[in-house]
Order: sequence, then C-alpha cells, then structure tokens
Amino acid sequence: MTKKTSITTKILIAMAIGLVTGSLINIFASDIAFIQDYLVNGLFHVIGAAFVNALKMLVVPLVTFSLIGGVCGIGDVGALGRVGMKAFGLYLLTTGMAITLALTIAILVGPGENFENATSVSSSFTAKQAPPLTDVFINIVPSNPVNAFAEGNMLQIIFFVILFAIAMLMTGNIGRQLAETAEKLNEVMMKVVTLVMDFAPIGVFFLMAKTFSEQGIDLILPMIGYFSVVIVALLIHALGTFSLFLIFLAKLNPIIFIKKMRPAHIFAFSTASSNATIPVTMQVVEQRMGVSNSTAAFTIPLGATINMDGTAIMQGVATVFIANVYGIDLGLTDYLTVVGMSILASIGTAGVPGVGLIMLAMVFNQVGLPVEGIGLILGVDRILDMVRTAVNITGDATVTCIVARGENEIDDGIFNDPDAGVITEIDLPHKSVKFDK
Ligand code: ASP
Repeated sequence: MTKKTSITTKILIAMAIGLVTGSLINIFASDIAFIQDYLVNGLFHVIGAAFVNALKMLVVPLVTFSLIGGVCGIGDVGALGRVGMKAFGLYLLTTGMAITLALTIAILVGPGENFENATSVSSSFTAKQAPPLTDVFINIVPSNPVNAFAEGNMLQIIFFVILFAIAMLMTGNIGRQLAETAEKLNEVMMKVVTLVMDFAPIGVFFLMAKTFSEQGIDLILPMIGYFSVVIVALLIHALGTFSLFLIFLAKLNPIIFIKKMRPAHIFAFSTASSNATIPVTMQVVEQRMGVSNSTAAFTIPLGATINMDGTAIMQGVATVFIANVYGIDLGLTDYLTVVGMSILASIGTAGVPGVGLIMLAMVFNQVGLPVEGIGLILGVDRILDMVRTAVNITGDATVTCIVARGENEIDDGIFNDPDAGVITEIDLPHKSVKFDK
C-alpha cells in the first residue's frame, strides 16, 4: 500500500523534475554544445529511449498471453462476438463524437483566421505515404503470423490470437492444458511488467527532460490559438464526453475513474504512445478498476490500435486551422469527409508517436488542403501528441468499463475502493476457463 503510493508519487515527481530540467536547458543551455551532446542527445536520449523500448518489449507477449486467457475466459464464441461488436461500435462512436466536437469548437473559435505570412510557411513537412484504406482491411489478416508478431502489428496479432484461442476452446482437454499454461505465462509476464515499472521514475524523468529541452515556449507562442483550441477540445472530450458515457452507460463515478487513470496518463504523456502504454492501461483497468481480464485483454489492445479520440480532435482543429490560414473555404461535405476519414484513419494506424500527422496528411489529401500546411503545426505537435495520447487511452479505458458493465465483468467493490490495485504489485487471481466438453 505504502509502496504503491510512493511509486506513483515518485513517477509524478520525476515527471515534474524532468519537465523543469528540460525547460531550463531549453531556455539557458540550448546552444551549449557540451550539454546538448552529452546530456540531451546523450544521457537523456539513451535512457529515455531504452525505457520506451522496455515498455514496448512487454506489449506483444503480454497481449498474446492475456488475450488467450481472455478468450478462453469468455468461453463461447457468441459472447466473444458480442464483446467485439460492442467495443468496436463504441470506439467508432466516441471517435465520431470527438471529431465532431473538435470541428464545432474550431469553427466557432476560428483559429488561424488572422494568421500572418501563411505564404512564407516553411514546407518542411513531407507526408509519408498513408496506407490505402482497402489495404487496411486486407491487412487485418496476417499472411504470416510470425511476421505479425515480429513487427508488433497489433490488429494482425489480435486476429490470429483470437482465432487460435477459439480453436483451443474447441479442442477440449488439449486446449485447456494450453490455456492453463498461457495463464501462468501471463502471470509471469505481469511480473516482468512490475520489474520494468520499478525503473519508471528514472525513465519518465529522462523522457520528459529530453522532450522539454527540445520544445521551447517560443515554438508554442505563435501557434497559441491552434494549441489552445486543441487542448480545450481534448479536455472537454476527456472530462465531459467520457464522464457522461461513464455515468450513463457504465454506471460508474467519473471522478474515481480519472483518479485511478493517473498512472496510465503519466505513461501515455511521457511516451506519446498508446501502444507502449498498453501494459499500464491493462493493469489499471484490471487491478484498480476491477474489470475482468477476459474483457480488458481484448478491448485495451484493440482500443490502442483502432481508437484515437485525441488524435481525431487534433485533426479536426488542424483542418479548420489550416483552411483558415490558407483562406480555403470548406463546405459541409468537406467536413463530413473529415469526420469519416479521421474515423477510418484512426482504425488503420497504430498508436505510436506522431502517427496523427500521417493520418492528417491523409485527411488533407481527401479534402484538398495543402499537405505542406502540416509544416506549420509540426513545432507544437510533440506536446499535443503527449496530451492526445493520454486522451486516446482514456477512451480505451472508458469503453472497456462500459463493455465490462454490459457483460457483468466489472467488480464495483474494486472500482470504488480507492486503495484497490497496487500498480507495482500484481497478484492475478486464476481465471476460470470454460471449455466445450
Ligand atoms: N501518439 C498517439 C497515440 O499513440 C497517436 C498520434 O496521435 O500520433 O495514441
């Protein structure tokens, strides 16, 4: 108990010190070669990046073992389909609401309307090729599962593991033995998560110090209009929309929810990657909120891949902003296209840092906005990426709670207990695994 409080607090303190250290370096030492070479691009970069690698290292084995346990725990294919459809539908719905909210706020506020020297904008942004939408669907099915695991392609992994676990359910005793093994492996994996988490304060400090020593306030100032509209829309969605969903659909107290999300928020913010945060988000919803592993093992990795409300919000505001800067009028059809495109784009791309910009290029192409306009918002994108990633994973956890409520897979006792679920100590109860006789 004391350990939990101290570790979470330690991470938070490390984050704050990293932020201050980075900002000070940015202000006072941005042209001192020694500090830049040895600290920012040396120590900070190496330890921060190694820590993110350590988090990513957990994702594929954790998702695999716990998804096998999850599918076997749900026990029948019908229930699995229901959970899948509900999660998918809710993910689409929340993303649709996010982008609509962002467009509405941005149209009302009108960021970029009096923006100067739009024409002198450096077009340093070259868009990476976004995958064509047909490919997105074809590629859900892996042609080589080993490749999918090696590349960490989450949708392909989910597809293959679910199929494999369904086959396990159908093979009676053999499958049962395998499921028990997967459960044991899952418990060991959770222990590995704990070990990595012990280094979290150090990792988070270096990540924050590196980011903020590169991000100066002078990057934000000219973009303050765009920046603030994105942040306000993100906050309204995270605190407003999600709270209403939690109250009405999950019958849960949103204040408790937000408090319990804190460790996951810290990781999402520091890594700017929903994928790398999967181990922490899963731990939070299972251990601290009482959602069963059979639901969370499925909905969290799925959400990290297909659900990006925060990213959709950035896209909505960026569309209106760039249209205003370049004096291009967008009509209702264009806005509807933006809504549709950003929902599809969020399904087709993984939750990794900066992917939102690639998706944005896809949206711009579709409505005929100049893709090089993205160069304008590049400077502030890293910080917005951190905030929107936190919103993205909040959406994953919200939908998980709603699905769990519908399936009777959430323990209110655990959810309402402020001390439930020690983030550094994992003690998974054995799940009951149902099999066809
Ligand atoms: N970094 C975001 C995520 O991982 C995606 C993005 O908006 O770039 O969820």
